[in-house]
Amino acid sequence: MWDSEKKAVIEVAQEMERKGLVVGTAGNVSLRLKDPSGRELLAITPSGRYYDSLKIDDIVVVDFEGQRVEGEQKASIETVMHTEVYKARKKVNAIVHAHPAFCSVIAVTGLDIPPLIDEQVIYIGGEIKVAEYALPGTPELAKNAVSALGPRNAVILANHGVLSVGRDMREALTICELAEEMAKIYVSVLSLGKVNTLPAEVVELEKAFFASVYGEGEG
Ligand SMILES: [Zn+2]
Repeated sequence: MWDSEKKAVIEVAQEMERKGLVVGTAGNVSLRLKDPSGRELLAITPSGRYYDSLKIDDIVVVDFEGQRVEGEQKASIETVMHTEVYKARKKVNAIVHAHPAFCSVIAVTGLDIPPLIDEQVIYIGGEIKVAEYALPGTPELAKNAVSALGPRNAVILANHGVLSVGRDMREALTICELAEEMAKIYVSVLSLGKVNTLPAEVVELEKAFFASVYGEGEG
């Protein structure tokens, strides 16, 4: 079942690797699914596999308790982080978790990225926070990620990487690339020593626009 959804997961995972957002088998990608009875599930990349060799049947389907529903491979160790984000964010249908270089620099500094550029607020929802450190694959990391993500579309994981979300697979990948772009800009700006963030009233307007598109409030 879900062949086209699994294919979408593979395509985005391969693109994530091609674009240099991860090295080797790192990172993971998932898509929200529903079975015919309405039970919530997700299709996720398997643990420790190179993306270029992934076949449709390698994508694992698990329920929100992490129990495998389809597939022989072991689901990504970060499955719990994905399920907790889906539980918290009803409009999120796709998640990309990667380790791109500039987000990783920010992850090491622990500095939240303030609203710097219009598109950051419009598409990510404002600042990009750094979630408190926890070991990879743990419920604590999932909890810290959900908390620092809040209503926004990207969060940096301390000393680890970045997680981005979207209404579909393509959007989650685009947000990951945008977060990396913002991290790159912030690292460069900090090295020049002068930061002019967006004016507060502009941030407020753009956050309202973001909420009208991505907010959980309206249906
Ligand atoms: Zn990771």
